[in-house]
Amino acid sequence: MSELQPKPKLKKPRGRARLIDGKCIACGARCQSSCPVNCIEMTDSGEPIVETAKCIGCQKCIKICPAAAMEMFFTAEEQKILDELAAESGGAVEEEPDEEGTALARKLAEYKGVWVFVEQTEGEPAKVSWELLGVGAGLARSLGVELCALVIGENVEHLCREAFAYGAAKAYLLDAPVYTHYRTEAYVEGCCHLIEKYKPEIILMGATGMGRDLAGAIATRVGTGLTADCTGLAVDDKRNLMQTRPAFGGNIMATIMCDKYRPQMSTVRPNVMPMPERKEGAEGTVIRDPFTVTEESVLTKVIEIIRDSHNKGGVDITGAEFIVSGGRGMMSPENFAILQELADELDGVVGASRSAVDAGWMPGDRQVGQTGKTVRPKIYIACGISGAIQHLVGMQDSDMVIAINRDSSAPIFEVATYGIVGDLFQVVPAITAKIRELKKTRA
Ligand SMILES: Cc1cc2nc3c(=O)[nH]c(=O)nc-3n(C[C@H](O)[C@H](O)[C@H](O)COP(=O)(O)OP(=O)(O)OC[C@H]3O[C@@H](n4cnc5c(N)ncnc54)[C@H](O)[C@@H]3O)c2cc1C
Repeated sequence: MSELQPKPKLKKPRGRARLIDGKCIACGARCQSSCPVNCIEMTDSGEPIVETAKCIGCQKCIKICPAAAMEMFFTAEEQKILDELAAESGGAVEEEPDEEGTALARKLAEYKGVWVFVEQTEGEPAKVSWELLGVGAGLARSLGVELCALVIGENVEHLCREAFAYGAAKAYLLDAPVYTHYRTEAYVEGCCHLIEKYKPEIILMGATGMGRDLAGAIATRVGTGLTADCTGLAVDDKRNLMQTRPAFGGNIMATIMCDKYRPQMSTVRPNVMPMPERKEGAEGTVIRDPFTVTEESVLTKVIEIIRDSHNKGGVDITGAEFIVSGGRGMMSPENFAILQELADELDGVVGASRSAVDAGWMPGDRQVGQTGKTVRPKIYIACGISGAIQHLVGMQDSDMVIAINRDSSAPIFEVATYGIVGDLFQVVPAITAKIRELKKTRA
């Protein structure tokens, strides 16, 4: 009598995706971009054609479709197996784990923690680093992970303590003579070493000259995505970082995600995020890593540091508490003198719209906006500026905005705390005169 052989285990068929006639809304090829095996082509009218032979039944197109226009179908043979499996399990057929999805989830789960790169020059930290610790704290809380600082330089341990005061719980420190001055090669080597060793989930850097250079080089090296100049950061329920930034010339706000690679990297311009509260004496853990690179391996040598704006009498509008900005409504460069007078009374500086800069009325370092500087003063006075979105993204987070424009429908009034509809050549001198009068009576 032959032995009873165990019945071979039936494998659940995965099926293939197909379009349900008449349901596609031509959303913009989301199904095509989600397909991991490129088996979807789009017709001229924006509908998908699935190459069935290539489909692996991953269901990604079905899950992403906003109109539920895709479905799975099974051959008669596959349907028979499904029915048998359902009968064996009393009705319910267990989902086969999606191998690709599980491997990806496992890989992503290895990365934990929110890191903020603490930018410094000759030991002086860039304020944007602390602003990033502020927004990073919220992200770390949402993810249930630690907020960490990444400090690189020579004799910079004091910056770790400063980072604790601004909310970091831990600081990864590379402290060696080769890191004294920022040089891309050395910093990239150092950062990539730490990333490989400690695997952070998110890395934030300032969108400064240094941050932009370093972030791009690191993202390329570790093979992940980078979103530059973010204006908003949050996490979704799958731990993906939702990185919002202006796109298409600032006409739309795009939310970008990097859902298949880690770490998720973003840069944020100075003054975009608010400064967090400083807690003197806050403690944290310093992880001093001995990793270093040899001086010979770094081709760039820093001979001398020449500071530009501060040494040459230039104006840094990003640090000003009061900004009086002029636009095309100023009509000529000479007319900016009335804005300077008002700015002087307020101990502030004069800014400009791009139109005023393009016209040669003001230098480029005064430009506020998407391709200029982001400012967050206590008071921003916009004179003869219409309020194009590209200008607004650079100043709308000011504590108070006062707009002076003779066109009552100018978009600048939508972000203004106080709006004055009138001729700026009358209004601005009148405000200056009033301030002088008030100062005199108080003296
Ligand atoms: C990719 C891209 C990036 C850009 N980046 C920037 C940027 O960084 N910063 C920026 O500013 N722009 C930027 N722009 C340009 C932007 O789109 C606008 O063209 C620009 O901001 C308009 O400048 P403005 O408001 O001075 O001029 P206008 O739009 O011409 O507005 C002039 C205003 O002055 C008012 N006015 C005229 N005379 C008087 C008066 N006597 N009294 C009171 N009001 C008066 C008018 O009513 C009008 O509202 C960018 C554009 C693009 C495409």
